[in-house]
Amino acid sequence: MTGWGIATARSGVCLDVGGALYRLAPALARLGEAAPDSAITLFADWPASVALLDRAAEARRDEDRVPEAERLAPLLYPGKILCAGANYYDHLAEMGMPGARKDEQRLFFFFKPPRQAVVGPGATVRLPIGTQAFDWEIELAAVIGRPARAVPEASALDYVAAYTVAIDFSARDFNRAPETFYKLDWVAGKAHDTCCPMGPVLVPASRIPDPQALGLRLWVNGALKQDGHSSGMIFSLREQIAILSRIMTLEPGDVILTGTPAGVGVPRGTFLAVGDEVAAEIDGIGRLAVTIIGSA
Ligand code: MG
Repeated sequence: MTGWGIATARSGVCLDVGGALYRLAPALARLGEAAPDSAITLFADWPASVALLDRAAEARRDEDRVPEAERLAPLLYPGKILCAGANYYDHLAEMGMPGARKDEQRLFFFFKPPRQAVVGPGATVRLPIGTQAFDWEIELAAVIGRPARAVPEASALDYVAAYTVAIDFSARDFNRAPETFYKLDWVAGKAHDTCCPMGPVLVPASRIPDPQALGLRLWVNGALKQDGHSSGMIFSLREQIAILSRIMTLEPGDVILTGTPAGVGVPRGTFLAVGDEVAAEIDGIGRLAVTIIGSA
């Protein structure tokens, strides 16, 4: 079997093999199979699709190659993007809450808009208009493959089709809203255009048996800022799926961002500026890099 991930380019769904993009349609045509219109289509019979994609990776040819410049986010477009807030012990500590106890915490989620917020590797991220405190958060992202409603923790990972890397870009100054009744504004702080890069690939969940055993690293202009481990989550991915699926049905193509470890900018008063390059990498998945551009 060739190691591959699902990617998307302007020309459609691709396989990423060793960082090179190959159109999926011609490889599948050689196997007598039709091409999917989206990665989500492949989730309908995911074990069979993974086996077919193993064969498609072997059947790829150089003539199927797609230039890297055509790479988009691996999932166009996700369904719901649900993001866990403050879900790592070391991140809570750096945000002023050392020694947090799980039994005193309640898992908190917010949304990002799937069409405007998602961009792919190599893309540009617009500085939200007016922010003075634009910050980074690397996150392990789980892509749902089967409808999940009120599923138990024990089987929750069975509903995950794939994993990818995401960055939850955040305007910290807009997140705080002391003049409102609620004191926090999760739309103004988190839901900006282009502020949910994802990629470079979807890695089948079968290749990541334990999502709580992954190193996560993020650099700004080459300087390592976050160097965390998914074992540091307060609520595991299993627990997140169990809790979320009691609130709403999770559907194929929905994405869960699972929280960020320590090393964000706000505790040190360090924020992003136009021209900065942010690179994020998770063990077994890959590296996602984007560049910050102006608001206009
Ligand atoms: Mg986050």
